[in-house]
Amino acid sequence: MILSHNRRPIGLLKLGLVITSVALFLATGMLYVSQTRQQGLLTATIRSSGWVAYQAQLEFVKTEAEFAKLSLVPTRDGLRELVLRLEILRSRLPVLYDSDEGRVLSGIVDTKDLTQPLEATLDSVIDEVGALDAEDGETASRLRSIDTRLTPLGQVLQRILLESVAYNQEIFRRERALAETPGVVPLVLLFICGGCLALVLYLQGRRDRLRLGEILEAQNAIRAMESNLRAVIQAVPACVAVIEPESGRVSFFNSTAASLVSADPADPAWLHFVQAVHEAAGEAGRTKWGMLSMAYLRSPGQFVSLRGTICDVLWERRHQQLIVLADTTQVRSAELQVMQAAKLATLGEMATAIAHELNQPLAVIKMAVANARRLLEPMSGGEAVLAKLERISSQVDRAKRITDQVRRYGRMPSEQLLPFSLRHAVELAVSFVAEQYRAANIRLTIEPGFPMEVLVFGEQTMFEQVMVNLLINARDAFEARDAGAGPASREVTLSLGCVAEQVVISIQDNAGGVSEEMLPRLFEPFSTTKSTDKGTGLGLSLARSVVRDMNGTISVENVGAGARFIIALPFSPPVLGRNAA
Ligand code: ADP
Repeated sequence: MILSHNRRPIGLLKLGLVITSVALFLATGMLYVSQTRQQGLLTATIRSSGWVAYQAQLEFVKTEAEFAKLSLVPTRDGLRELVLRLEILRSRLPVLYDSDEGRVLSGIVDTKDLTQPLEATLDSVIDEVGALDAEDGETASRLRSIDTRLTPLGQVLQRILLESVAYNQEIFRRERALAETPGVVPLVLLFICGGCLALVLYLQGRRDRLRLGEILEAQNAIRAMESNLRAVIQAVPACVAVIEPESGRVSFFNSTAASLVSADPADPAWLHFVQAVHEAAGEAGRTKWGMLSMAYLRSPGQFVSLRGTICDVLWERRHQQLIVLADTTQVRSAELQVMQAAKLATLGEMATAIAHELNQPLAVIKMAVANARRLLEPMSGGEAVLAKLERISSQVDRAKRITDQVRRYGRMPSEQLLPFSLRHAVELAVSFVAEQYRAANIRLTIEPGFPMEVLVFGEQTMFEQVMVNLLINARDAFEARDAGAGPASREVTLSLGCVAEQVVISIQDNAGGVSEEMLPRLFEPFSTTKSTDKGTGLGLSLARSVVRDMNGTISVENVGAGARFIIALPFSPPVLGRNAA
């Protein structure tokens, strides 16, 4: 975040530096061009302006020399020569201001104003010299006096030449100075340019370093995320595997998948697994995402039900297929058990209804037996029939007891928790199973010292059901133990005692105990070792919820040759009981 905030000002600074560098570079170039041009111009000026002044001066000197020579001995040829010189000199004068060079010279000294007034003098001198006769004795003196009229022109030309020379010297001096001082300004500009570029390079490098840092940081974050993801996938209780769609090779799998298939990716079991997945996926395996439901033969005879999804993923930068499967084997068997429980519930309802309906005929039989006895009593020799009637009556009573218990067992528990006699409830439960225990040859011992009038709070019917379930479980445990083997001693001991503020009921058998793997999940729903037509695995979980509703606890332990179930319940005040301490 901080980096991205800083990036804009740095970008603007860089843009500024680049623009400055380019501007300075152009300025340096233009400066160089202008200096070169200026130098060229100066050189040309020096050459041309000095040259015309010098030529005029030269012509004047030659003319003067001619005058001096003819003033001594005038000759006709000499006079002609002098006229020619004067005319050449005359032609040089306009050049001093009316030519390109002359105009440059006028910039240094006002040649026109200086020379133009003297042109007329020179014209008259030319005319006068042209009219002279060499034979005339006066010619020499006349030449001397004419010559004196040219003195101002000589002075003017001298001045022009001197000023031109002085100017040229100044130019030369400046040129030399320029040549000697190697362009400081361009040098400075170039230095600034270089500095700017170096700064640009430094900023660019710094920005690249920061970006590199950001990229490395992002890469580290991605790596950490990936390893977190792998750890999460490893911890997921579902089977997760990544396979290459072309070769079917497995490139990743988590611990659950390893325990389901194999921990070795080269194991042929993986090939079979991937094959089974693709067969189950069918069309779904060719789309990007699809549901999957399959049975996998884990080992001979052991089928595992799996349900989940298959989808395309980008794993390790390659397109692969991700398979996520949950083991639904237990869910399926739980579903079967729920169905069984529902069936048993219906059966229970029917049993209750039948017990209710049987009461009527039993009452009629009982009444008929009583009437028959009354009729037989005055008769002699009816003792044998009376004895039979007595037996019928007792069997009807027994049948009535059984139907009463079935009805009680099937009754809906009431919402209200009331105090009830624990001893009475236990006795009812015992009487309910007494017949079955007798048939199964189980000796049920109720320990002496059983408190007589302990009251507990709860729903009595439900508590009876808990006790019946524990006693029936003990009976089933004996049958499971002795299946195939000869009959062995079958004993169940029921004891009841008071500890601190609680009453503790213990039901102990010698049926071999609960297996180690069942112990931790015994009270969970659907935990059963019985076949689905016999057990539901709901009894103990129901028992736990009933006991909890009574603010009590239920636990199990393997003791001696069997299992001991312990129920601890709080007393219902007031505690009445002869044996209660
Ligand atoms: P179910 O009787 O329908 O299986 P329960 O919840 O009543 O359901 O019992 C669960 C399991 O606990 C039984 O399948 C059995 O394996 C085990 N069990 C219960 N009581 C005993 C016992 N007294 N001895 C050994 N195992 C027992």
